[in-house]
Amino acid sequence: MTTLNELYQEIILDHYRQPRGRGELEPPKITQEGFNPSCGDEIILDLRVQDERIQAVRFRGRGCSISQASASMLTEAVQGKTLEEAHALIQRVLALVKGEMEGDVETLGDIAALAGVRHFPVRVKCATLAWHTLEEALKQAE
Ligand code: ZN
Repeated sequence: MTTLNELYQEIILDHYRQPRGRGELEPPKITQEGFNPSCGDEIILDLRVQDERIQAVRFRGRGCSISQASASMLTEAVQGKTLEEAHALIQRVLALVKGEMEGDVETLGDIAALAGVRHFPVRVKCATLAWHTLEEALKQAE
């Protein structure tokens, strides 16, 4: 029998092995780097924002499976979102990872798989790196 945790593990490994949205954008773009010193994870996010909307998003990086899978999930989730929607999503994901989310986790799709890290405080920074990096990138866009 597959437990929910095993299912979440599978989703994270799938994103790690076959990252969505990996690569670089051609200019014009916003580039933001993020670093998680406690684990050595690095993320470089490229965003193209037009008319208050994220038209395109790519990431490069290296690090543990959780950090890279989280970035992969991010690129899927924020593609086409308005800046306001992206901000709201960041808050929901940060709450999820800290175990403070209210409402239905399943509405987050694959991102729900990150819920398990709340039991491992050291890994919370791995899971949130891409989202904090996006937050910084959005400041550049505004
Ligand atoms: Zn990590």
